[in-house]
Amino acid sequence: MLSRDDVFNELGIGPVWRLREAAPRESASAAYTWDTLADAVAHCNACKLSTTRTQGVLGVGDRNADWLIVGEAPGEEEDVQGEPFVGQAGKLLDAMLASIGLKRGDNVYITNVLKSRPPGNRNPEPDEVAACRPYLLAQIELIQPKLILALGRLAAQSLLGTDEAIGSLRGRVHPFQGVPLVATYHPAYLLRKPTEKARAWEDLCLARRTMQTL
Ligand code: URA
Repeated sequence: MLSRDDVFNELGIGPVWRLREAAPRESASAAYTWDTLADAVAHCNACKLSTTRTQGVLGVGDRNADWLIVGEAPGEEEDVQGEPFVGQAGKLLDAMLASIGLKRGDNVYITNVLKSRPPGNRNPEPDEVAACRPYLLAQIELIQPKLILALGRLAAQSLLGTDEAIGSLRGRVHPFQGVPLVATYHPAYLLRKPTEKARAWEDLCLARRTMQTL
C-alpha cells in the first residue's frame, strides 16, 4: 500500500512538510545615510531622465514616519519646487490624508517611485523604474515605516513586482518585505474619475484599520 508521502510524490506535490524558505529581503545596494542618499539623488545620472529634469525630488516629510506614501513620479510643479505632490494631485492627496487624520510631514513621509520627472509627464519606463529602485529601497530601510500606501498602478505594480491591475490590487493588504502595503488609486486618476473616490476612501480606511492593529 502506498504511503501518504508516496501518494503526494505521485501527484507531484510532495514533500509537503518542508517549510518554504522566506523570500530573500531585497535591499538597497549601498548603505545610505539620509545625507548620502540626498546627494546621490541630486547628482544621479543613472537614467536618461537626468538630462531633462530640473532636479531630483527625493521626498518630503517625517523621516521617522509610520506612514510611507509612494506615488509615481514628479510632475511639472514637483520638478520645479523639488517636493512631491505639490500640484493639483497633491492637494487631493492632502485631503485624502486629512480624511484619515493624517497630515503631510506629521508621521507621514511622501515620495515617488521615480525621483526625476519624465518629460511631458509620460509614463515611467521600466529601465527608469529599475534605476531608481535602490533609492526607494534605501528610503524604506531608513524610515522603517509601519505601513506603505502605494498610489496608483505604477507604484503598486513596481513595489509588488506584479502586472496585476490596480483595480484588483486595491482593497487588500499585501506584504512588502514584512511591511503591510495597501494600494489605492492615484489622486491624479481620482481627479479625472471622481466616482472612484468612494473606493479610495475604502482603501484609506483599510490602511488606517491595518495601522491600528500594528
Ligand atoms: N504625481 C505623482 O505621482 N507624484 C508627484 O509627486 C506628483 C504627481
